[in-house]
Amino acid sequence: MSITEQILQNKNFTKENIISLLQLGKTEAKLLFAESLKTKRESIGLDVHLRGLIEYSNICEKNCLYCGLRKSTEKKNTYTLSDNQIDFCIQEAIRLQYGSVALQCGEQSGKEFTEKITQIIKKIKQVSENKIGITLSCGEQSKETYREWFNAGAHRYLLRIETSNEDLYYKIHPKNSTHSFYNRVKCLEDLKDLGYQVGTGVMVGLPFQSTEDLADDILFFKQKDVAMIGLGPFIPHQDTPLWQFRENIPDKQERMFLTLKMIAILRLVMPEINMVSATANQTLDPLGREKAIVAGANIIMPNLTPTSKREDYAIYPDKACVKDSPDDCANCLEIRMRGIEHNIVYNEWGDSLAFIKKHTAFKS
Ligand code: SAH
Ligand code: SF4
Repeated sequence: MSITEQILQNKNFTKENIISLLQLGKTEAKLLFAESLKTKRESIGLDVHLRGLIEYSNICEKNCLYCGLRKSTEKKNTYTLSDNQIDFCIQEAIRLQYGSVALQCGEQSGKEFTEKITQIIKKIKQVSENKIGITLSCGEQSKETYREWFNAGAHRYLLRIETSNEDLYYKIHPKNSTHSFYNRVKCLEDLKDLGYQVGTGVMVGLPFQSTEDLADDILFFKQKDVAMIGLGPFIPHQDTPLWQFRENIPDKQERMFLTLKMIAILRLVMPEINMVSATANQTLDPLGREKAIVAGANIIMPNLTPTSKREDYAIYPDKACVKDSPDDCANCLEIRMRGIEHNIVYNEWGDSLAFIKKHTAFKS
């Protein structure tokens, strides 16, 4: 029996063994992917849940060194969706039978912003008669703000740690009080404490990132016992400081392959979590989203943002599907998921089984 077979059979996911799985070549990795798919089938099944993505605003007060929305990068157009545009997104989510939405934006603080998000959450709940689940991804906030949003009806929160290596964190963020690794971890703890289903994740293929870092990321997620993971490949953006290191990262194919191996290992280490197939996968590979689902992910985030605004939400360049209408996205996903023998589930929140088992009161 090969070492890979031994690791997979004994489910012996030590740091050393995770590193060895992350280093597998194409042929041996097939064993890993087969095992991951089998584990997914047995633990959560081959259902895919949807989160209609609403990119609420591209205004951001932070300066992450990799992101096109950073404060110091001049944007062609700044926008915040109007009430009418938000209403349109909610109606589309209902019409397309998406059981959940994800509200995402650049990070802003201040009462006006936080109260607006509260209003939007209440609106989604009211208009959908509590039928639509809500994931937020609005960055680092105070525990009070997180509480206000939770009480308004949000029940999942995605805040990527970006990397669990504190030294690397400060290579991809400016080192100042608004970009604190300590605070990011504290936010994850606050969210969990408040009763959210907490999701986190990292970018894969960052400059200065080692295989050891990625193995530590997996152990970090496990240690934090998160309910959801959203990870995806790093894609250099020409208007950001990390662009200068674009030659010092794994090439597109290697980043994609590493991302898929991360997803597959995570499905084995945390079989019942929800895991997003990030749209960034599709930017690197036209079949990237399907590949991530087959590797172990179970969530897809079709875009509901009005098409006229999507190009302005340029976290990374060449985002997939920026010109597609919500109908295009829905039809295309249905065909793509059927093609890989997965089944899209409509009109359900699609909570993480890992979370449901611990908190049965949160079943939809
Ligand atoms: N402002 C919020 C949510 C929007 S950013 C936040 O930062 O949490 C959402 C995610 O986009 C980030 O967590 C980051 O992991 C990802 N991202 C940003 N720039 C990226 C890039 N150049 N390539 C790939 N992913 C990127
Ligand atoms: Fe702002 Fe989030 Fe981009 Fe950082 S990653 S600059 S917080 S939008």
